[in-house]
Amino acid sequence: MTANLVANPKLSIVIPVYNEEDGLQALFDRLYPALDALAAKRNIAYEIVFVNDGSKDRSAGILAKQVDLRPDVTRAVLFHSNFGQHMAIMAGFEYAKGEHIITLDADLQNPPEEIDALTEQLLNGHDYVGTIRADRRDSFFRKIASRAMNGLRENITRITMTDQGCMLRGYSRRIVDLVRQCNENNTFIPALAYTFAANPIEITVKHEERFAGESKYSIYQLIRLNFDLVTGFSVMPLQIFSILGMLLSLAAGSLFVYLLVRRFVLGAEVEGVFTLFALTFFLIGVMLFGLGLLGEYIGRIYQQIRNRPRYVVQTVLEKK
Ligand code: UDP
Ligand code: MG
Repeated sequence: MTANLVANPKLSIVIPVYNEEDGLQALFDRLYPALDALAAKRNIAYEIVFVNDGSKDRSAGILAKQVDLRPDVTRAVLFHSNFGQHMAIMAGFEYAKGEHIITLDADLQNPPEEIDALTEQLLNGHDYVGTIRADRRDSFFRKIASRAMNGLRENITRITMTDQGCMLRGYSRRIVDLVRQCNENNTFIPALAYTFAANPIEITVKHEERFAGESKYSIYQLIRLNFDLVTGFSVMPLQIFSILGMLLSLAAGSLFVYLLVRRFVLGAEVEGVFTLFALTFFLIGVMLFGLGLLGEYIGRIYQQIRNRPRYVVQTVLEKK
C-alpha cells in the first residue's frame, strides 16, 4: 500500500455527506473491503471522493481521520456550508480523476457491494448505468410520491428512467465532463447526465434502510427538488398553463354571453351566485398556481444569471 494518493485511478466513487456522523464508520467498514476486493478482482485502481456538504456534526472530522487512515485511495472535499446533495456530487465530479465515476449515498441505503455490478457495466462500455431499487426501503409516503413524480417526469421530458431517485449510478468520464460544463445552479444530476448518455443501461440493485440518522430531505426540500427536476428539463408546465388559460377564458367568455342573454330573457338572476363564487375561487386558485409556477422558472433564471459560485470549497483533504 502506498502512502500517497493513487495517481491515475480508473474508478472514482463520489459520496456526498451531510450530518452523517453516526453512519460513516459503518459505511467505511463496508465500502473499503468491497472496493479493495473489486480492485483486486478487476485489477484496477480506485479512489473515493467524499464531499462534506457543510455538515454541522462531526462528519468532517471523521472524514479527515479516514483520509489519514487510507490516504492511498481517499480524498475529502469540504464545503464551506450546505449547498445540497446535487452540488456536492457536482464538486465530487470536479475532483474525481477516474475514467468511470460512480455516485453513492453515505447512509448505506445503497449497498457498497453493488458497486461491482455497476463497474462491470461501465467496463462493458455503457456510459450511463442507471439503477432500479429492488424492494425499496423508504416510507410509504416517499414511495407513493416518487412514483407520482416518476410518472410526471416521464410524461413531460424525454428522459426515460425507471427509478429516478436512486443515487447509486455510474457515469463515464465524457458524461461527467458534459454535466460539469452545463454550469447549472439547480439541477438533478441523474436526469441531466441521462440527456448526454449514448449507451445507457439500467440494472437492479438492492436497497436498504438508512443505517443511522434521518433523511436529510424534509417534505419542503423534496418539493423543491422535484421542481428542479421538472423545470430543469421541460417548459411543458408553462405551456400547459397557456393552454389551460385559453380554455378557461373561452369558458368564462361563453358563461358571460350566456348570463347576458339570460339577463334580458329571464331577468336578473341571483340564485346561482354561490356557484359563481365557487367558480371564481377555483379560477383564482388556478391563477395563483400558475403565477407560482412562473415564479419557479423566473427564480431559477435569476439564480442562474447572478452567476454566483454554485458551491464554495473550504479545503480539500488529500495526501499528495
Ligand atoms: N446530502 C447532502 N446534502 C444535503 C442533503 C443530503 O450531501 O443537503 C447527502 C446525504 O448525506 C446522503 C445523500 O445526500 O449521503 C442522500 O441523502 P438522504 O439519505 O438524506 O436522502 P434520502 O435517502 O432520504 O432521499
Ligand atoms: Mg438515504
